[in-house]
Amino acid sequence: MGRDLNPQCKQCRRAGEKLFLKGERCNTPKCAMVKRNYPPGIHGPKGKSRPTEYGLQLNEKQKAKRQYGLLEKQFRLTFTKAKKEAGNTGENFLKLLEMRFDNVIYRLGIASSRKEARQLISHGHFTINDKKVNIPSYQVRAGEVIKIKSNKKDAKIFKDLKEKLQKKEVPGWVNLDKNEIAAKILHAPDVSVLKPNFNLQMIVEYYSR
Ligand code: SF4
Repeated sequence: MGRDLNPQCKQCRRAGEKLFLKGERCNTPKCAMVKRNYPPGIHGPKGKSRPTEYGLQLNEKQKAKRQYGLLEKQFRLTFTKAKKEAGNTGENFLKLLEMRFDNVIYRLGIASSRKEARQLISHGHFTINDKKVNIPSYQVRAGEVIKIKSNKKDAKIFKDLKEKLQKKEVPGWVNLDKNEIAAKILHAPDVSVLKPNFNLQMIVEYYSR
């Protein structure tokens, strides 16, 4: 599976806002958006030129793609899948992104970033309905139960996880047993309550050109 290897902080600086790609570091003064809140480049901050409509759409698409940590091909394929489904393409697209296995692990607070979630999944740390699933792009379904694999529960990476999860607010479409660390998918997310920091409509327009 391809991975986006571009420096993550530069992606935030390019987007002009925090995309929270580096887990806990993003909430500290070490965040590059705190220290260098201007687009990357060797000449330092410059004035902003007025973007075209296409430029605005491209920016929104890039912002979403980077947040979910996908490469263009995967991102576009997800959009194509959303378009084929009945209903609103933008909403379908957001649902497909949210219901990726790596995103769910991140939203539950088991990993501090989607990148870390992807790594944990690829290394076979989780089961879905008691079967090992090591595919980060796997689409979770209502009724499925995600657990940490029994022989991985004592892994260093999960130390203090129960305590951390007590403070974590999880999405309403997942029920997380914080003591057992077992998450049941209740239903697809209600897109009307999700507040993405990108403009879905512009992304639909970008891919519909
Ligand atoms: Fe973005 Fe996090 Fe880097 Fe800050 S620390 S620039 S939020 S990836």
